Amino acid sequence: MIDLQGKRALVTGAASGIGRATAALFAELGAQVLLADVDSERGEQAAKDVGGVFVRCDVSRRADCEEAVHTAVSQFGGVDVLFNNAGIIRRSTVCEITDDDWDLVMAVNVRAIMVLSGLVVPLMAANGGGVIVNTGSGWGVKGGARAISYCASKGAVVNMTRAMAIDHGPDNIRVVCVCPGDTNTGMLAEEARQLGESADAFYADAADRPLGRIGTPQDIARTVAFLASDAAAFVSGAVVTVDGAGTA
Ligand code: NAD
Repeated sequence: MIDLQGKRALVTGAASGIGRATAALFAELGAQVLLADVDSERGEQAAKDVGGVFVRCDVSRRADCEEAVHTAVSQFGGVDVLFNNAGIIRRSTVCEITDDDWDLVMAVNVRAIMVLSGLVVPLMAANGGGVIVNTGSGWGVKGGARAISYCASKGAVVNMTRAMAIDHGPDNIRVVCVCPGDTNTGMLAEEARQLGESADAFYADAADRPLGRIGTPQDIARTVAFLASDAAAFVSGAVVTVDGAGTA
């Protein structure tokens, strides 16, 4: 039932982790995939591995987002699925964070979704519809320690998903949010580094694991592929946690 044959997908943060796994699965399910990332070396390699096309794109820069969408149009003729997935974290409290770090987290995690969706929605509307999947986080629906800007940004992603779903439903555009729990990617290692902990200790000390493990990028990718497919035709405005009951 999960078939992306003929779909044209734009995936941000596609050079590693959840974005890379999702780009690979999209391609396996028949989609043409444009992998966008600020990391050219890993992005080029990922595109080669999955059989997609790479575009260098710093999602915090409008001009780069315009270039990515332009590339999707020139290479594939349009965008049917937009996976707004690029994200960064700064582990700090409200007393520790700098204005620059706050602005950067907001620009990458939130403003980029506004910019890219704003560019892609008119294309989707003109083409009869489409799907936008935004990557939120468990920390978009509950709080987390020492991650004030990240928690604020992911809360925004969750609620802008709902607002976009209402605004663009009449154009047959579905907008959904996937909220991963701790997932084994570079981001988790980066968090451990920022907190001065070893990755192993960080995994062991993190929140309860009702299913006895943290997530894999593939756990998230499979859910995104379902949400992006016609099998989820009536799922819109939804916030889907994929965290082995971590937020339960
Ligand atoms: P990751 O670090 O493996 O991948 C993130 C990717 O985003 C990288 O390839 C990076 O180069 C790219 N990126 C960073 N800044 C960018 C920018 N300005 N422009 C374009 N690309 C940029 O981490 P991941 O875990 O795969 O993260 C993907 C998404 O999942 C993020 O939105 C993150 O917040 C979310 N998430 C992750 C976890 C987790 O535990 N790993 C949990 C909840 C939510």
